[in-house]
Amino acid sequence: MSANIIDGKAIAKDIHTEVRAEAEQFEKDNGYKPGLATVLVGEDPASQSYVKAKVKACEEDGLMGIKHVLPESASQEEVMALVTSLAEDPSIHGILVKLPLPGHIDEKTVLDAVPLSKDVDGFHPANLGRIGIKGEEADFVACTPAGVIELLKRSDVQIEGANAVVIGRSKIVGLPVALLLLNENATVTICHSRTKDLGAVTREADILVPAIGKANLVTEDMVKEGAVIIDVGVNRVDDATRKRGYRLAGDCDFEGVSKRARAITPVPGGVGPMTIAMLMKNTLRAAKRQLEG
Ligand code: NAP
Repeated sequence: MSANIIDGKAIAKDIHTEVRAEAEQFEKDNGYKPGLATVLVGEDPASQSYVKAKVKACEEDGLMGIKHVLPESASQEEVMALVTSLAEDPSIHGILVKLPLPGHIDEKTVLDAVPLSKDVDGFHPANLGRIGIKGEEADFVACTPAGVIELLKRSDVQIEGANAVVIGRSKIVGLPVALLLLNENATVTICHSRTKDLGAVTREADILVPAIGKANLVTEDMVKEGAVIIDVGVNRVDDATRKRGYRLAGDCDFEGVSKRARAITPVPGGVGPMTIAMLMKNTLRAAKRQLEG
């Protein structure tokens, strides 16, 4: 068997098209665009390009993206003053604080200053908690986990009743993915670094979501024949044939695992593009919800 490729780029493109149409209608109806403010503290090049990509996506999708950059030496008070002013600014509907913040900044205090109504990243404990409670709706679902579910749904993968195994339990990916799968009525197992005999668990998975950050950790023998794999991991692997000296790879040994899986996301081009598309969707949702009051 050779797995079908779940094309995250193409699915994300569809979502951007849908957001754009809705954002245009929103602007027509209300006379302004949904606004996303990004906050970056420091000059880390990877973080700069991360933020730049989000602002570019805003422009392409008919949203207003505003980039704020503070120097690495910015004080807690300066960061808080910026986030507080964005929290109060009615033209800003979503606030994205690029993490990690420099060590001298108290991350929790800064994130707590982002009001729930503008928490388009979905990292507020209230939003994280609500996705785990049946019958409750989070204001915003974190973008990468939401992207994982969207990839499954738009690829017509049956989630209800499936055995789903998530590897990783971070608040950014693993835990919210597991809770979302549970809400979709999968039978969910969460694995982590202390899991004994990881392969024995993953071999039971109809849906496998590695979110670890270790290249090639998931190998062919750990995958059930016919499984669907959404590989969240993004890892740099040395590659002398590339100009930059490395390539990006997921957590799976893609070639080996593809022999047994029914469908798999590539890295890059799988979950990554979905994260940005879901952020655009969340920003539009924030603007609509703030309008409703
Ligand atoms: P993280 O906070 O480092 O969490 C990694 C998780 O993997 C932890 O729960 C850890 O277990 C578990 N783990 C580590 N080694 C393991 C092992 N040998 N066996 C089983 N579990 C193991 O990372 P993260 O922020 O969740 O990100 C995970 C990956 O997703 C990274 O590669 C990151 O770059 C990628 N990512 C991609 C996107 C995207 O848009 N595509 C977005 C976010 C993250 P413990 O809890 O026991 O330590």
